Amino acid sequence: MQCPACEKVMLILEYQGIELDHCPACGGVWLDAGELGLLLTGRPETPAGMTLKNARAGARRCPRCPRKMDTGHFDNSTIEVDACPARHGIWLDRGELTALAQAQRGPEAEAVARHLRALFGEEQKQRSEK
Ligand SMILES: [Zn+2]
Ligand SMILES: [Zn+2]
Repeated sequence: MQCPACEKVMLILEYQGIELDHCPACGGVWLDAGELGLLLTGRPETPAGMTLKNARAGARRCPRCPRKMDTGHFDNSTIEVDACPARHGIWLDRGELTALAQAQRGPEAEAVARHLRALFGEEQKQRSEK
């Protein structure tokens, strides 16, 4: 699958049975419909507060269909998210998925964020920031 941001070929990384399409070139990640919920809450339903608000037409194309994605942010976050209008999934730029995971409450969220950072190779950056 092609990266919607930089058009390089994405790699599939598996995390607890969930297939994440990760772009090693720009660090972004594509989540198919339901995967965000599975990742953060263990359920495919869209997590509370994670519906796209004030979405506007974006420039990037959905990697699953020819449509251009909408861009906006979740009502509980300021992170910009691109979403396919045909609901194929969402696109998050480098570090945004871990930031979303981190913003969830509880020790479970901490663990998910930590695993994702390791999976995406974001650990070094995180360490040097401390
Ligand atoms: Zn990319
Ligand atoms: Zn689509």
